[in-house]
Amino acid sequence: MSLQGKVAVVTGAGRGIGQAIATVLAARGASVAVWDLNHEGAEKTAAAIQEAGGTAIAVVGDAAAAAGVAEAAARTRAELGRVSILVNNAGITAYQPFTSISEDAWDRMIGVNLKGPFLVTKELVPDMLEAGWGRIVNISSSSAQTGAPSMAHYASSKGGVISLTRALAIEYADQGITVNHVPPGFIDTPLVREGPIDVEAAAAHMPMKRAGSPEDVAYAVAYLASEEAGYVTGQTFSVNGGRHLV
Ligand code: NAP
Repeated sequence: MSLQGKVAVVTGAGRGIGQAIATVLAARGASVAVWDLNHEGAEKTAAAIQEAGGTAIAVVGDAAAAAGVAEAAARTRAELGRVSILVNNAGITAYQPFTSISEDAWDRMIGVNLKGPFLVTKELVPDMLEAGWGRIVNISSSSAQTGAPSMAHYASSKGGVISLTRALAIEYADQGITVNHVPPGFIDTPLVREGPIDVEAAAAHMPMKRAGSPEDVAYAVAYLASEEAGYVTGQTFSVNGGRHLV
């Protein structure tokens, strides 16, 4: 499944799942724009891809702010060309009992996790429409499939991502653009390590007795980004080690 000649944007690719996605897409031949808030992370991901013989640029900016998105898109187009693959991966999480979620915390969660993909997709989809070919993969979450205590704002934001995926899949179905989402289950990333969960203890309760790796998610994304996935749109491609069966 070669991605030679394609230009991919991966948001939040400075670490964790996004870093693995950027690395796998580049290994398959895509030129990758590594978008992240974190300067050091973005540079590190791009440098590792270049060292492995791939093409990548680090683009520092906020994927949830219109001005930052426009700037990042302009740099990406100038340095790599028209974008044909978009992975909306950047996201934040928080654990808060429902009644302690403030209006600000709600707005921030929806702002980054749902408005972010809206802004980035709106900015980049014209490139795909012009080319008559595009792949959009949104990273949602199993918490939007199953519900999750103390994560009402997070689960709601990711539920919105699933609905955005389905709406755009139908809107662009006859224009060569597919739109799918990948809900990861429990993946061992810096985000999870920074949270309150004991990763090893939780992994022992998984059907496969392990947490997922960022690469587990990246391989699913690489398939959905490929030519071969051209008749797959509006779908859920769960990567959760059998933890949740639909
Ligand atoms: P992570 O380790 O925190 O990595 C996320 C990266 O995104 C960080 O480098 C972060 O930068 C960046 N970022 C955050 N907000 C951004 C913004 N507005 N603009 C640009 N970059 C931004 O997270 P992860 O675990 O890899 O998660 C990646 C995605 O998978 C998220 O959407 C998450 O909700 C989803 N997910 C993860 C799991 C899991 O088990 N890990 C499960 C389900 C869904 P900073 O560090 O500077 O904030």
